[in-house]
Amino acid sequence: MVTRIQKRLARRLATQAISKGILVRPNNCTECKKATKVHAHHNNYTKPLEVTWFCSKCHWKWHKINGFSSVRNTPKDIYRYVLSINSIIHSKIKAVAMREKRSLTKQVQFMLAEFLEKGK
Ligand SMILES: [Zn+2]
Ligand SMILES: [Zn+2]
Repeated sequence: MVTRIQKRLARRLATQAISKGILVRPNNCTECKKATKVHAHHNNYTKPLEVTWFCSKCHWKWHKINGFSSVRNTPKDIYRYVLSINSIIHSKIKAVAMREKRSLTKQVQFMLAEFLEKGK
């Protein structure tokens, strides 16, 4: 069972490893080979330096199939995840949330559900 602390630790260690050049961020997604800013994804949070490099699309796809982790993600976690993908998305979500008079986290949940529907 992965705890939230373990997840956070794994992410922090991976980030440190990247900044120290221990882990090298490639320019392409491992899955679809697209040249883009790739995310460091953990298949296993107990192995912080074992990461897979995904573009945002493939990253979503992976989590759609495999789940976010054994820990249930709160809307806040999902919101943070969306934030980490792209700050442009953030301002877009904010605008839509305001227009629809929803809270930010509600809006993210809503959009996530929509996104997963479309991906089917
Ligand atoms: Zn990809
Ligand atoms: Zn991931």
